[in-house]
Amino acid sequence: RKISKDVAIIGAGAAGMMCAIEAGKRGRSVILLDHARKLAEKVRISGGGRCNFTNRHATAENYLSANPHFCRSALARFTPQDFIALVEKHGIRYHEKKSGQLFCDNSSQQIIDMLQHECAKAGVEWQMPSQVQRVEHVSVNNDEQYAKKKFLITTERNIVAVDSLVIATGGLSIPQIGASAFGYQIADQFGIRVTSLRPGLVGLTFTAGDFAGFKDISGISVDAAVSCAGVSFRENVLFTHRGLSGPAILQISSYWQPGKPLHIDLLPQQNAQQIFLEYRQSALMLSNLLACYLPKRFVQIWCAVNFAELLITTKPMNQFHDNELRQVADKIHDWQVVPSGTTGYKKAEVTLGGVDTHELSSKTMESRHISGLYFIGEVVDVTGQLGGYNFQWAWSSGYAAGQAV
Ligand code: FAD
Repeated sequence: RKISKDVAIIGAGAAGMMCAIEAGKRGRSVILLDHARKLAEKVRISGGGRCNFTNRHATAENYLSANPHFCRSALARFTPQDFIALVEKHGIRYHEKKSGQLFCDNSSQQIIDMLQHECAKAGVEWQMPSQVQRVEHVSVNNDEQYAKKKFLITTERNIVAVDSLVIATGGLSIPQIGASAFGYQIADQFGIRVTSLRPGLVGLTFTAGDFAGFKDISGISVDAAVSCAGVSFRENVLFTHRGLSGPAILQISSYWQPGKPLHIDLLPQQNAQQIFLEYRQSALMLSNLLACYLPKRFVQIWCAVNFAELLITTKPMNQFHDNELRQVADKIHDWQVVPSGTTGYKKAEVTLGGVDTHELSSKTMESRHISGLYFIGEVVDVTGQLGGYNFQWAWSSGYAAGQAV
């Protein structure tokens, strides 16, 4: 069975649905195809089930891309405020957690219902679950010079012929709920470059030897400033049985390069040297003094790992040499650790890298070389920081393509 539509969107996630709504509103006939059984699983699990659906302060500076300016145009045309207006129109209650991060009061399902409702209103058709077996780009008349080309999408049920094909299949993270490399394969099929891919917003692992001891404090977190590659995040660092996680680590993971150290400032708002000076003549154990500022179990292990020879846990402040205290203070403000890797795509929130933005129009997301072929959302080499930025990119890029298809 062959059916014809103006637009097919492969991937009915955040970006795909937004694009479908906008294209449908413009009177295009739209079909959304997805191989998953359940709609928009990533939206459902996002933000701990409450979907951090945007960030009030999203700007290009919150995104990683080989071409940092690429996302500007789309973000300017469909802003966080535009998405908030949609959420408010649907009476979805939300709250701001911190630094502009907006979450549903109740459930991320409300965002899915809202998008589904808007799709229905815009006359969007669904085909899911449906496996796409093949995509071809073929001429539909015999006049070579003026040949009009269509995309033919072969699924297990039918062949869908369209003028515009939008790839919105997302990244590689969480393959358990339907992530696939489909978008990158389509790019490859059409000779469109894809930058190198790696997991982002992900926990970092350490070789057992380097991190022995810290396993015992899994579950404990410290408020720290974590830096690398000239970028710094002040948030919680969580110790896990495999290494480090928590918001500061997820954020920095997207900037971290294998082999390079992370610099952790354990007392970002204090001056350790100053604190030591104040207690210089005291009989207080150094470790007990540190435990006034940091979790006690962490202090014990941190001291044992880094300063076993200084006997921090058994020696009072008044018995240390100045240079020993300086060493400890320096390490408190610049504890360097070298992760061995990440917990991988199974745990990552996003995929860094993707369809090379030099191949796409920043205004429409259309391929510069293959007319009618669009890439939106996470499959593109635009990755947001933690805090609602990734959904905002999905909405903005989906909107941009939806205005153009
Ligand atoms: P997706 O939403 O992943 O949608 C892609 C769709 O394509 C899916 O429905 C999938 O089934 C379909 N698909 C894949 N392959 C095929 C194929 N071969 N054929 C047909 N269909 C296919 N971002 C935020 O901004 N805020 C958050 O709170 C947040 N929380 C997150 C929590 C977790 C645990 C994770 C993993 C991610 C989170 N993110 C969050 C990131 C965010 O979910 C993604 O960046 C966003 O969903 C990307 O949107 P997308 O439409 O490009 O892709």
